[in-house]
Amino acid sequence: MKEIVIATKNPHKVTEMTNLLESLEYDVKTLYDYPEIGPIEETGDTFKENALIKAKTLSEYTKTMCIADDSGIEVDALDGEPGVYSARFAGEKATYDDNNRLLLKKMKHKTNRKARFVTVICLYYPDQEPVFFESTLNGEIAKDFKGLNGFGYDPLFIVKGTNRHLAEYALQEKNEISHRAKALKKLIDYLKAK
Ligand code: IMP
Repeated sequence: MKEIVIATKNPHKVTEMTNLLESLEYDVKTLYDYPEIGPIEETGDTFKENALIKAKTLSEYTKTMCIADDSGIEVDALDGEPGVYSARFAGEKATYDDNNRLLLKKMKHKTNRKARFVTVICLYYPDQEPVFFESTLNGEIAKDFKGLNGFGYDPLFIVKGTNRHLAEYALQEKNEISHRAKALKKLIDYLKAK
């Protein structure tokens, strides 16, 4: 059985990715199997750089095939902010609520409210060129919170072509359209074809 290691400890990502990869007969491991590694610093300026840093660091340690993802939200009226800083928009220890409130404040007088969620996944084999899979979900920043599902910026994100906030989507429904799910599908299709 081929081994693959996912550079995450996020339980939501572990479940989502493990299920799909196990169906392709991979022996799936995560950062939980390598506690000695500790957190990998995301020092890049782009999603691609951060995904690469995480996948490469882990692959060089484990000497096996690794995947890592990096995601966030880009807002046009804020010149792409918060982008790679989405998790720490309102500071290093910011909660989702802190970040959302700061976003609402910065968007207060903005008429262009276009935004997108972005995910980049990096697949890294030792001694080979990395392969990247990217996907987006377009929408707009709302003027108020709505919905109780999901996480992060979901309560403020109106999905393009709908009048629904992402936090109003059930998990299953979100997994059919989300940036992360679509990038993951590209990775799975790539691995199936190999
Ligand atoms: P991560 O790199 O996937 O951990 O995401 C970084 C940050 O981007 C998260 O802490 C959230 O603030 C934001 N984010 C990423 N994906 C989503 C999403 O699907 N919904 C809402 N916020 C998200």
